[in-house]
Amino acid sequence: SVPLSYYSGLGASSKISVLIKGGKYIEALAKADAFVFDKTGTLTTGELSVNKVFAYDNHTSSEIIALAAACERYSSHPIAMAIKNKAEKENLPELSGYSEKAGQGVTAVYNGKALVCGGTKVLSDKQKVNAEKTASVYVIYDGELIGAISVSDTLRPEAKSVIAELRKLGVKDSVMLTGDKKENAMDIANELKLDSYSAELMPSDKLEKLIDIKKTHKSVCFIGDGINDAPVLTASDCGFAMGFGSEAAIEAADAMLAAGNLKQLPLSVRIAKKVVATVK
Ligand code: ADP
Ligand code: MG
Repeated sequence: SVPLSYYSGLGASSKISVLIKGGKYIEALAKADAFVFDKTGTLTTGELSVNKVFAYDNHTSSEIIALAAACERYSSHPIAMAIKNKAEKENLPELSGYSEKAGQGVTAVYNGKALVCGGTKVLSDKQKVNAEKTASVYVIYDGELIGAISVSDTLRPEAKSVIAELRKLGVKDSVMLTGDKKENAMDIANELKLDSYSAELMPSDKLEKLIDIKKTHKSVCFIGDGINDAPVLTASDCGFAMGFGSEAAIEAADAMLAAGNLKQLPLSVRIAKKVVATVK
């Protein structure tokens, strides 16, 4: 009767639009004692907007946003989308030599010189001292910090209650791993009452952190949406991709929250516990 019970569990969970790739993951979910979350697009909606543009020296804020948007031309990162929306009415300069580094930002060439748009990772130690603490994105041209952009990240409305509910279901640790800066991560961790968080992580650091968490827990679930999250999704005992997330994340995941609603997580744990109890 083992397979039948598993399938009824799958049936019930697909009604609430969670797709699970196999019975093995139902078992992992049933005994999950840690849930690890990506931030942008997972705990937050991923629809960012530009709050404020800082312009230095003789630059104007419309020049800064136009340069940043031009640099982000080929990026689909939530930050890039916010910047391009904000620059809708600007004339964007022609650039060449575009490239993007996951967890860092983008670069291109403008009038023969390097233009960089990215997070704290792209700043030199000297630039870090003067950089706006509230900004997530910095604009650097020819080695000079010429502007900064602060973007707002909106928490998913269900996030806080989901963390509390998971705790009631036996999840001892809810953890956030993010590439964003410490200040932003700390605010969110406090608001959601997370057990811990790590910030300013590169995609490879996220994997290392997850492997560490696995060493001290029975079963670790990870939830993420981005291309960067694929290795962590694969390494976790049960990896969830957000339904609207990148193809790479959905491919690497063991389960998918089709509607992208975090409420499906505690519901899945509940169903998994019932299924496993029935089988035993
Ligand atoms: P998260 O872990 O929260 O999903 P990422 O790892 O994707 O975030 O990005 C981490 C940080 O790197 C961002 O907060 C931002 O400062 C910077 N960054 C990444 N991609 C871009 C981009 N395309 N443009 C500007 N900044 C970026
Ligand atoms: Mg993300």
